[in-house]
Amino acid sequence: MGVIRLEVDDILVLKKAHPCGSREWRVIRVGVDIGIRCLQCGRFVMVPRRKLEGKIRGIKRRGISLLPQESMLEV
Ligand SMILES: [Zn+2]
Repeated sequence: MGVIRLEVDDILVLKKAHPCGSREWRVIRVGVDIGIRCLQCGRFVMVPRRKLEGKIRGIKRRGISLLPQESMLEV
């Protein structure tokens, strides 16, 4: 696989669960910082790209699972 770039509306599956129990976040804003919203509790956070990069376990885009560990992930 090639390089994956984050897009708005991607669903990120993170390695660590949010305190509410969900691991899935929707990408709201893409820039120097990535804005993501927790799918379960609705919490919105801005995370620097570099910090987010190491936390992503998987990405779902339009219903298809992308596996960054098998490819280059460039957020
Ligand atoms: Zn949450």
